[in-house]
Amino acid sequence: MALTRRSLQRDLGLRGNLLKRLFGTNGVRGVTNRELTAELALGMGKAIGTYFNEKSKVLVGRDIRAGGDMLVRALTSGLLSAGIDVYYAGILPTPTLQYGIKNGKYDGGVMVTASHNPPEFNGIKVIDADGVETSSLNEEMIEEYYFSRKFREVEWRDLGHDVKEVPGLIDQYVKGILRHVDVKRIRERRFRVLVDGGSSVGSLTSVKVARELGCELHEIGTELDPLFRQRLPEPTPMSLKKTAELATRLKVDIAVAHDGDADRAIFIDSDGKVQLGDRSGVLLAYWVSLKEKPRSKIVATPFSSSNLVDEFLEKHGIKTEWTHIGSIHVSRKLIENGGFAGFEDNGGFIYPKHQYVRDGAMAFALMLDFLASQKKSSAELFDMLPKYNSEKIKIPIANGMNVDDILSKVNEKYMNSGKVVNTDRDGVKIVGKDFWFIVRKSGTEPVIRVSVEAKGKAKLDQTIENLKKIIF
Ligand code: MG
Repeated sequence: MALTRRSLQRDLGLRGNLLKRLFGTNGVRGVTNRELTAELALGMGKAIGTYFNEKSKVLVGRDIRAGGDMLVRALTSGLLSAGIDVYYAGILPTPTLQYGIKNGKYDGGVMVTASHNPPEFNGIKVIDADGVETSSLNEEMIEEYYFSRKFREVEWRDLGHDVKEVPGLIDQYVKGILRHVDVKRIRERRFRVLVDGGSSVGSLTSVKVARELGCELHEIGTELDPLFRQRLPEPTPMSLKKTAELATRLKVDIAVAHDGDADRAIFIDSDGKVQLGDRSGVLLAYWVSLKEKPRSKIVATPFSSSNLVDEFLEKHGIKTEWTHIGSIHVSRKLIENGGFAGFEDNGGFIYPKHQYVRDGAMAFALMLDFLASQKKSSAELFDMLPKYNSEKIKIPIANGMNVDDILSKVNEKYMNSGKVVNTDRDGVKIVGKDFWFIVRKSGTEPVIRVSVEAKGKAKLDQTIENLKKIIF
């Protein structure tokens, strides 16, 4: 008898939202060894192995999170049982694995990571041969294999070769990054930088990038720690308080902080201010357009990004394409429309000349490239952007909270106070004269995300208060 989702959920002791759908906005996520167990990873390995053709070359990697080794081994076993040739890249950033998949001509890959989620989480992300996360349609196919247990289990003589280790990807990846920036000009500036590796894999790449670019390097959280005791894996103004203080004390030209798998880069400017990802994304996109004069005038960013994107880029003849939330949508939009850059408010920056996925170390190198081309400090560069006061809040979804009801209430209350942006069910985004906000359900955590920006602190506080009154 085929297992239903519910019976499987019960069998595996899975709780919460994990198996309503296996995949969220960004792969499968769950609490390690509670939701995301070795059994689940084995089943995922079989399902993913069935999704790829027999004899496919699949590259597997992981970040430093606790449970990574356990999950990789179980997952690998499942892949092998489906007749996949497994290659293991070891501990490295997601963009490094993606770069390795595309350039090493693999048929695909799997990354074991929960990206920015809290330390107790881990996750599994499937990557296609072009190095980009697989589409949700393919994820549904993998889910189907998983839930129906229709796995390809090959004959004993058709099993693939033993797992082959693939060393050296980090060096190849760093070299690939350096090809896109003016190494000589950056070296001459001897920038004083602070790298915050978030205790994870960003430490393996951005430290190298900084050294190669002749920076005076300072470090925080660059020792790998599966328990993330230095700070939470998500780089936010709150989690980066210590890093920002250190950046100020050291008087660095710029600091960069990564999330758990280093596809995001959040910058701290020379005034010690933590800059949100849509602000750095706009600056980097502007820099790429200045230096490369690309024929395409298109950038892509999700609805959750600030309105300053349009406000600033339009003046420079750049058109913004708004996408669904989730970096995969930005990647796919760029591939479809030939855009020259993409970014997210969370610090993901996509530079298609390097690869069509967000890439923390690439963003870092481009920021140094921009800085080296200008006679301005990094704080002055950020000052070119329109001024907004901003705040992002996460509200845990409590029992009995109906998110759809909340969203319609917000919509109703604000529909006459500004332009209602059609986010295609990604949440409610309102753009008013001196403020904008988006209220939405997170795709990776059980929280409601609220991002508000306003011209002036009073307007910001007032908008947040009003929204809170509606939500609670
Ligand atoms: Mg990430």
